[in-house]
Amino acid sequence: MVTTVILSMLCVHLLCFCVMFLLISTRLNGKKMGMEVFALGNLLLGLAYILQLLGGPANWGAMSLINHTLTLCAPVAYVLGALRFFDRPTPVWRPLLALAALYTALQVVVQSTLGSEARHALLAGSCALLFLAMAVAVLYARRTVARDLRVEMIVFAVLIGGICLLNAAKFVMILQGGLAALDMSSGFQKIFYIYMSFLGTVLPPCAVWLVLRRLTDELRTMAAHDPLTQLLNRRGLTEALDVHFRSHGAVSAYLLIVDIDHFKRINDTHGHKVGDLVLCRVAALLKATARQGDLTCRLGGEEFVLVALDTDRAGAFQLAERARAAIEHSEVLGIDTDQPIRCTATIGVSDNFTSTQALDTYMQQADAALYRGKASGRNRVECAYA
Ligand code: GH3
Ligand code: MG
Ligand code: MG
Repeated sequence: MVTTVILSMLCVHLLCFCVMFLLISTRLNGKKMGMEVFALGNLLLGLAYILQLLGGPANWGAMSLINHTLTLCAPVAYVLGALRFFDRPTPVWRPLLALAALYTALQVVVQSTLGSEARHALLAGSCALLFLAMAVAVLYARRTVARDLRVEMIVFAVLIGGICLLNAAKFVMILQGGLAALDMSSGFQKIFYIYMSFLGTVLPPCAVWLVLRRLTDELRTMAAHDPLTQLLNRRGLTEALDVHFRSHGAVSAYLLIVDIDHFKRINDTHGHKVGDLVLCRVAALLKATARQGDLTCRLGGEEFVLVALDTDRAGAFQLAERARAAIEHSEVLGIDTDQPIRCTATIGVSDNFTSTQALDTYMQQADAALYRGKASGRNRVECAYA
């Protein structure tokens, strides 16, 4: 009786979260992060348990056959959903239908040759192996695609490890004691379904948490970057500088403002699209010229900022000169013309500063130097200091 109540509650949980996952996936529009596949997994498992409640676990018939197939397909659906969450384009219906057909056929063969016990042992053994593979995969993901979700992955591995052990125990008990091991009033089944109910309660909110984390991380990245060039924007630059000064102390930094010369002419002659290509090219050149750890930012329009960290005046000047030369010697292919487009840039370099609060002051200083560079003929580096 207790096990039946637990199983019924588990069904309600699974189906409620199935609807919730579907609702979340409709809100996510293009990038559903596997939510719709998690919903499918919940639906399959929920249906499997409904069949179990209706038909009893040990009966041989269509209901039990479908129940076992759904029980095995559900965790596979979760795996496919997880692959989609980690941006792996994964087919869902074909592998699931193939697995369902294969496993149903296997059940018929096992039932008719070895009997009911063997068919139930097959399910417990298959689930144990599948969950073992899932736990190992989750631990592997923690070191590769999910490095930013280490704690979450360990929690998942432990929870999946638990259900793997319970299925392995069920497998051994069926082999030793036959179908009596599946008696719903037995202590083992009670523990089994309490644990399943625990997973059904804990895992869906965890999945929602992962989606929430991914969304907020993406929002933070979007808010800190320029959409055209993917460089930091002004807000991102301020945040990155804050992080740097907090972790490295008041080490000196130099600010370089890079402004493309006569950029309006490029737009007017070749069109705005080509202008955008030039902006992207200059952004890539600045990123390639800067040292690792230096910050590159698009302030807006055709103005960029490079912050040279942990360097001196000579180092900052050399960086500016390298960037200027790289831009001067680069070419961008136009859209309607074979003629490569060339451009130059003028760069103003500030004196050194040691805090984010000083950013505005030193930005003005670099801007004044830039203005002098423009007035003196462009395509040059001008420093705020003598
Ligand atoms: P100077 O050498 O004095 O810097 O001249 P300039 O033409 O580069 O500077 P000006 O400020 O007169 O023109 C900047 C132009 O940049 C004007 C604007 O239309 C263009 N611009 C601003 N943002 C974008 C953008 O996102 N894409 C494109 N293609 N053009 C942009
Ligand atoms: Mg300009
Ligand atoms: Mg400008």
